[in-house]
Amino acid sequence: MGKIISIANQKGGVGKTTTSVNLGACLAYIGKKVLLVDIDPQGNATSGAGIDKGEVQQCIYDVLVDDVDIKDVIKPTEVERLYSVPATIQLAGAEIELVPTISREVRLKRALETIKEEYDFIIIDCPPSLGLLTINALTASDAVLIPVQCEYYALEGLSQLLNTVRLVQKHLNHDLMIDGVLLTMLDARTNLGIQVIDEVKKYFQDKVYRTIIPRNVRLSEAPSHGEPIIIYDSKSRGAEVYLDLAKEVVVNG
Ligand code: ADP
Ligand code: MG
Repeated sequence: MGKIISIANQKGGVGKTTTSVNLGACLAYIGKKVLLVDIDPQGNATSGAGIDKGEVQQCIYDVLVDDVDIKDVIKPTEVERLYSVPATIQLAGAEIELVPTISREVRLKRALETIKEEYDFIIIDCPPSLGLLTINALTASDAVLIPVQCEYYALEGLSQLLNTVRLVQKHLNHDLMIDGVLLTMLDARTNLGIQVIDEVKKYFQDKVYRTIIPRNVRLSEAPSHGEPIIIYDSKSRGAEVYLDLAKEVVVNG
């Protein structure tokens, strides 16, 4: 049975999309069948996986708001075993349009339940907010992976996120686990990064992934080519570390 992992943090620019695309692609590379679900209206995980948003007829919006079968929305990607559920800017309306609807928090969960056993992993790239889209993701998930940038104020805002996770656990999804905090964009040349690592480890202890993602320019270039790092530059440090993360995620079960 597939494992569903939300990549969530309401802070923007912490590496959610980079992690969703590259963890997804690396899991596929090591033999897992993976579905990458984009629920950010920006659609960066869609284009980052090589899907041309201009060509997308139906996206996750249609699944969440109009009950379109998710199977009709899934697209293959250039990476073998990696599939995408795309998002387009149309999804921006969903946050408000879902408010008056029945079972608005469980729509993604219901959709994913119909295909969960067909995949080894389903990775959900969340938007930078704690609104209904992120609630849908957390409600549908077995686990949440929280990327934290190795920067000043790294822990700022995390209490809000953890509070939302607790509310979802209490009211919507008792089984949701915090699988881990992923340290991202470490600049090894500064002491600051090391301080942040210590601080985050003190707070989250064994919930911090062993793999730490360094700053790597190839990781920031890859999206403009519509290629995950494992395709764009398989020899780069970025490809190495996301492969390490994929293996760690598999071992964690
Ligand atoms: P989020 O989805 O949380 O907003 P992104 O994954 O889009 O964050 O990352 C924000 C920016 O930082 C993007 O331009 C991305 O290419 C870049 N980036 C992310 N991770 C790295 C990294 N490890 N090294 C270099 N650039 C990165
Ligand atoms: Mg993003």
